[in-house]
Amino acid sequence: MTLHKIIIPTPFAVGDVNSYLLKGDMLTLIDTGPKTPEAWMAIKAGLKEFGAEPGDVEQVVLTHHHPDHAGWVDGFENAKLYGHPYNDLWLRRDQDFFEYHDAFYMERLKEEGVPGDLQFWVKKMKRPLNLMGSRPLDKAINEGDTLPGHPEWEVLETLGHAQSHLSFWNKETHEMIGGDHVIAKVSSNPLIEPPLDPAQGRPKSLLQYNASLSRLLKMPIDVIYSGHGEEVRNINELITSRLAKQHQRAMKALGMIGERNLTVYELTKELFSHAYEKELGLTLSETIGQIDYLQEEGLISERLGDDGIFYYNKV
Ligand SMILES: [Zn+2]
Repeated sequence: MTLHKIIIPTPFAVGDVNSYLLKGDMLTLIDTGPKTPEAWMAIKAGLKEFGAEPGDVEQVVLTHHHPDHAGWVDGFENAKLYGHPYNDLWLRRDQDFFEYHDAFYMERLKEEGVPGDLQFWVKKMKRPLNLMGSRPLDKAINEGDTLPGHPEWEVLETLGHAQSHLSFWNKETHEMIGGDHVIAKVSSNPLIEPPLDPAQGRPKSLLQYNASLSRLLKMPIDVIYSGHGEEVRNINELITSRLAKQHQRAMKALGMIGERNLTVYELTKELFSHAYEKELGLTLSETIGQIDYLQEEGLISERLGDDGIFYYNKV
């Protein structure tokens, strides 16, 4: 088994994204960069270093559906495509899902107290589509499966950053391919996304994320090959410090709430006064993460006003 890293440029703030070519019984590409000509050049160059070309790739596997990972899914004419079932809704441009998606965010903005003139953000939440490939999954994989053609790699469902997120763990070598679950330089944004099963309501993405991170602490993992940047080797140390920093961020939010009754939107404006206008979706997700965390810890309570907006105060 060999693993070959391909570094791919993206037009996003995060910078380059990594794909991994896995050679076992099958030649498998994990993640595919954004759908830009520059990314395609980098993928072809990376394959060439390995003596391969796009037509040789037999399988493409996604860590999650975000466009810097799921761009060129349709660039490999001989490959089967595998990933979490959630990817498929995006990759197929499922119209029912998109209607539900817009209604989901519309409801969220309302209960978060976001003013009506900012509702255009609902459309912006579908921005990922522009650089995402379009073809259905051949087969969904999830927790409990192994990677097709690579039986030593187990599939873990690691939700939090995305509602489609999977990580792959090699039980023999203790290597992990971690997508955006663990990145060396930055903590992953716990994005609020509509859930796979609408009956489940809004995912508490940060709590999901913390649970998915904590789970790794109990596993033998020597190295994580990340979706961005360098490999992570001091895994327990990094995760422990990320969880501690998360706690500190929540305490800062609690201090800001003070003796007031605040909406998610009001708290977002205070926590991210320089960024919230430009990146409303991301900053609301971060704030909701703190709110969910504080509620889980029993430190704040939630009240639904007659205006349909949630208000939070210290208990
Ligand atoms: Zn992502």
